[in-house]
Amino acid sequence: MKIPFGKPIIDLEEFKKVKKVLSSGILTHGPMSQNFEKNFSKFTGLKNLLSTSSCTSSLYLAYKIIGLKKGDEFIVPAQTHVATINAGKILGAKPIFIDSDNVTGNIDISQIEKKITKKTKCITIVHFLGKPVDIRKINKLVKRYKIKLIEDCALALGSKYYNKHVGFFSDFACFSFYPAKHITTGDGGMLFCKNKNDFEKAKLLRGFGVNKSFFERKTPGIYDVLDCGLNFRLSDINSAIGLVQLGKIRSFLKKRKQNYLYLSNNIKKNKKLKLVNSETEENLVSSYYCISFIVKGINRKKRNEYLNLLKGRGIGCSVYYPRAVVDYTYFKKDGYSKLNFSNAREISNCSICLPVGPHLKQSNLKFITLELKKIFK
Ligand SMILES: *Cc1c(COP(=O)(O)O)cnc(C)c1O
Repeated sequence: MKIPFGKPIIDLEEFKKVKKVLSSGILTHGPMSQNFEKNFSKFTGLKNLLSTSSCTSSLYLAYKIIGLKKGDEFIVPAQTHVATINAGKILGAKPIFIDSDNVTGNIDISQIEKKITKKTKCITIVHFLGKPVDIRKINKLVKRYKIKLIEDCALALGSKYYNKHVGFFSDFACFSFYPAKHITTGDGGMLFCKNKNDFEKAKLLRGFGVNKSFFERKTPGIYDVLDCGLNFRLSDINSAIGLVQLGKIRSFLKKRKQNYLYLSNNIKKNKKLKLVNSETEENLVSSYYCISFIVKGINRKKRNEYLNLLKGRGIGCSVYYPRAVVDYTYFKKDGYSKLNFSNAREISNCSICLPVGPHLKQSNLKFITLELKKIFK
C-alpha cells in the first residue's frame, strides 16, 4: 500500500479549464484570476481579495503595507512555517517568537502581552493545522496597543471562528494553494485586506507599483509607477486550476473531517500517544489539515525512527513543523535558541503528522490504524 501524505485531487475538469486558458491566448491578467477571487469571496465571505503567487508573497504584501521595517518588531508563533517569519524579516524587522500552547499547538496567547513593546507593529497568528486561534483574545491586545493583526491562514481554508471564515476579524489574511494544502493552484496564494485603501495598495504592490494593469490601459503601453512593487501575480493558468478546485472544497472538507475523526478515535485510545487537538469545538470550526500526535515517554527520542518505519510501510507522514523557527540554522545567529520554547520544540521533536486528505480511502484508514497499533503497542 502506498498512501501519500498530500495528494491533490485533479480531475478532467481542471484539465479542461487549463486547456481553455491555454487556447484563449490570455495567460495572465485575464478573467480567470478575477473569477477565482470572486468565487473565493463567495466561499469565505471575505471581500477585498487579491490572488497572489503564494501565501509567502501575500504575507510579504501585508507586512509591506503596514510599513514593517528595520527597527520594528513583529510577534509570531515559534511553531510555524518559516514563511510567516521570513516575509517580515526580509523588510528588516525583528521577529519576536512566542511558544505554543501545549494542547492545540497554536500560539500561547498568555505569553503575548509581556512581549509587546513600543516597537511592535503587528501580531501574526497561524491557525495551526487548521484549528482557529482564539482571535477575540488577540484582538483585545491589538486594540489596546494599536497594532495590526495578520492571519497566516495557509492551513485554514474552511476554518471558522464564531461563524465567520478565519481572516474576517483581522487586518490581513493570507492563504496558500501549495499542492499539499486544502486546494491547489500548483503554487499560489490569496490576500485579504480588511481596509479598502490597503487593498488598493496591495493591488499596486502586486504588480510592480504600476497604476494600470494591462487591460486598463487606454493608450497601449502607457502607464505610471506609483510605488516600489514587484510581481506577485497569479497566472490565469494557475487560477483556472484553483477555480475548479474551489468547487470541490466543501466535499474536501467533509472528507478531511471524517478521516480525522476516524484516526483520532484510534489514536486517543493509545496510551503511548498524545493527540494534538485540532478538532472543531464550540465557535471554532477546524479545517482538519492533518492529524498530529506526540510520542510520549522514553520512545519520544525515537521519533525519526518511527517516521522511517511508517514510510517503510507506505504510510505518508510528515512533521509540522520540523523545527521551532528559532532552531533553524539561519536563526541561530540571532541567539534565540537558548530561550525556552519547550512546547514548540516538543511538537517539532516528538510529533508525527498523518494525512487526512480526500485522497484517503477507507482501506487506507484501516491500514494506518492497524500499523499504528503494531508500531506503538
Ligand atoms: C505552507 C505554508 C506557508 C507557505 O505557503 P506558500 O503558498 O508555499 O508560500 C506559509 N505559512 C504556513 C503556516 C504554511 O503552512
